Amino acid sequence: MRCKYCGRDMIRVKTPFKRPVKGEMITVHDIEVYRCPECKAVFIPNETIKHTGKKVGEKLLKVAKERGRIRDEKEHLRQMQEQKQIDIEEGIKRGEYKKKEEMPLKIFT
Ligand SMILES: [Zn+2]
Repeated sequence: MRCKYCGRDMIRVKTPFKRPVKGEMITVHDIEVYRCPECKAVFIPNETIKHTGKKVGEKLLKVAKERGRIRDEKEHLRQMQEQKQIDIEEGIKRGEYKKKEEMPLKIFT
């Protein structure tokens, strides 16, 4: 995987993904991304986005169930299916995707 900004080979790393969703802080541990050692750009593979979306969805569902917010689970899942990818991509664009180091991120997918 080459960095699209500076052309260096990117390194595959695992990092936690955190973002607030409807008042809950959702954390997905160890998502796989590629990081550029030169300019610190981050590339998020498609599978990682899917995986993360699935995990976020599962956690939200669990929380919502615990609080009695869901009556029709299947309908809820279907709606979430449509939203989750968009949510994550927008979260990334808004800079909700943070790493340990406070770096200006260039994120592409
Ligand atoms: Zn780079």
